[in-house]
Amino acid sequence: MIAATLAADGLDVIVVEASEYFNESDFSNLDLDAYAKMYWRGGSNPTADGNVSIMAGTTLGGGTTINWMNCLRTRDGVRAEWANAGLEGVDGPDYDAHLDAVLERISANDACSDLNGPHQRMKEGTEKLGWSFKTIVRNTDRETYSPDNAGYVGFGDRSGSKQSGTKTYLADAAAKGARFLVRTRVAKVLTDGGAASGIEATQIHPDGTTTAVTIRAPRVVVACGSLESPALLLRSGIGGAAVGENLHLHPCARRSSASTPRTSVPGGARRRRRSATSSPTPATATATSSSPASTRPP
Ligand SMILES: Cc1cc2nc3c(=O)[nH]c(=O)nc-3n(C[C@H](O)[C@H](O)[C@H](O)COP(=O)(O)OP(=O)(O)OC[C@H]3O[C@@H](n4cnc5c(N)ncnc54)[C@H](O)[C@@H]3O)c2cc1C
Repeated sequence: MIAATLAADGLDVIVVEASEYFNESDFSNLDLDAYAKMYWRGGSNPTADGNVSIMAGTTLGGGTTINWMNCLRTRDGVRAEWANAGLEGVDGPDYDAHLDAVLERISANDACSDLNGPHQRMKEGTEKLGWSFKTIVRNTDRETYSPDNAGYVGFGDRSGSKQSGTKTYLADAAAKGARFLVRTRVAKVLTDGGAASGIEATQIHPDGTTTAVTIRAPRVVVACGSLESPALLLRSGIGGAAVGENLHLHPCARRSSASTPRTSVPGGARRRRRSATSSPTPATATATSSSPASTRPP
């Protein structure tokens, strides 16, 4: 969504993704294959003590390629909690307008949420008990939705009806000229004179060889999920405040910084029109290695 917004605003955008572009022809509906290809580190990511496990997608489009598509509006209690933690603009009407806009773009509707046997029994139970029951809203294209495929959407949606990131915001970004580098894992956010100035990454080619990639850019958006955004900042040795306003953080990354950085989202960022000074230099290959490497992020 950030890439689409910035590209629509005339900025020269490069999206860098550690994983691959997957579409309907890649979805085998097999769990092992899907976990290996499209889940971060192949599935669950447990804490050291094993008490908490987090799953995340790794595809161009992130988790939206393999998630279950439930589109829940953020509850008031959660929004209040975020506001108390210092996030601005999440507890007022503007936030509702943003939610509405996103839900519309990803075609969220409740017409394609079939109840299976257990759901149906639960519905009957809630009715008997006088409890509330709502059908979930999901980001599915009504025209192409196929109930036959509904049980497999966690492995990618073969029907193509799932309105994932690649079908919505990343398609919008591409239509506005954004470029995409896949199989390219960012190792570090570069800084120059206290401001973010680009990234260093490694691209892994299908034959296993690698290319070192450096992108110089006047602005960097870190949006690699709640597990990896903080990790990338730590790897980059970024304390936050020193980077200034050129670095825009995934909200989850905020607390990992040694001091609180100035965080912002594109709508609130100072916008620059595409120009010689604001366009990032195209990705430059700075070194090539012939060592084979796994295409799955470590
Ligand atoms: C199985 C499953 C089911 C889910 N079901 C739902 C649901 O029904 N409803 C719902 O609202 N949410 C659901 N979610 C959660 C939802 O998908 C995520 O909250 C959402 O995708 C997070 O978006 P994100 O952009 O923050 O990060 P992610 O979607 O995690 O994307 C981060 C991307 O960054 C890439 N990346 C990481 N590190 C680097 C690096 N160093 N360099 C380059 N790229 C990097 C990753 O490969 C990944 O593609 C589900 C998640 C999973 C795993």
